Amino acid sequence: MRTSSLTAQLPRFAQAWLPRRWREPLPIPERLWRKTLARHCFLQALNSAEQQRLRQLCRHFLIEKEFHGAHGLVISDSIVLAITAQACLPLLHLGGVGTAPGSDPLQALNWYGDFVGIVVQPGAAVAQREVTDAAGVVHRYREVLAGEAMDRGPIMLSWASVEQADAGAASGHNVVIHEFVHKMDMRGITLGQHPGGAPPLPRGFLDTRSEAEARVRWQSVMQPAFEGFREAVAMAERFGAEAPWLDSYGATNPAEFFAVTCEAYFVNRERFAAEFPALVTLYDGFFRPGR
Ligand SMILES: [Zn+2]
Repeated sequence: MRTSSLTAQLPRFAQAWLPRRWREPLPIPERLWRKTLARHCFLQALNSAEQQRLRQLCRHFLIEKEFHGAHGLVISDSIVLAITAQACLPLLHLGGVGTAPGSDPLQALNWYGDFVGIVVQPGAAVAQREVTDAAGVVHRYREVLAGEAMDRGPIMLSWASVEQADAGAASGHNVVIHEFVHKMDMRGITLGQHPGGAPPLPRGFLDTRSEAEARVRWQSVMQPAFEGFREAVAMAERFGAEAPWLDSYGATNPAEFFAVTCEAYFVNRERFAAEFPALVTLYDGFFRPGR
């Protein structure tokens, strides 16, 4: 396997210090771009203006981020572009963090401005966890991860999971979108806090008149949707009811619910709209403001 030439843009480190409009990212080869779109049904389904905009976001993303292969994984161009294109998908119609979209679409990359590294593992990663319960007892356990996003730190992805993106679209699953949307959620918290499934909202979000009103609107839709999902998961697990669509991991907490539902919103909008009609309007207000 050839190592990535996309990330071998030596002047990129110098360019990262320039304002984006002065940077000169390398073009993404046409054949590689076409292949990446063709491998992901939800990217292929974008219209040509959206694909063009996505490509431009990707070119700049490649200057700003560093990919690292772990456990012997060689980072190839197709790995880099598959991750980059999916990571940039949520940014397609966004402005900067907490701001309405303006004339510069590249501002949307500010959502990922708190980190540089993307670590790609060949398979699932096993993390050693430690929690202390209310009685002061320390519990140690191993957790198998397809991906992980750390606040103000790197993103870790399992290539074996990323590779399943096209097949996973039917069940609304996408690990890259999951982890990058966590990053967006984390832009609204202070260091040490846990994200709460509520990213910073732009001014005028769904015609609200203040930041406070926007937040209330967001929670008034998210809260009942989360509770409904948690209820459905509990009914399935305890009483054998039919499992709800989407990963039950979304019932863990509001941040995971946001990440899990965003996966489906981006890769299988049709089914998502049928299952979560109120969330589609909410997410359109956030991810496609003014549309
Ligand atoms: Zn998560």
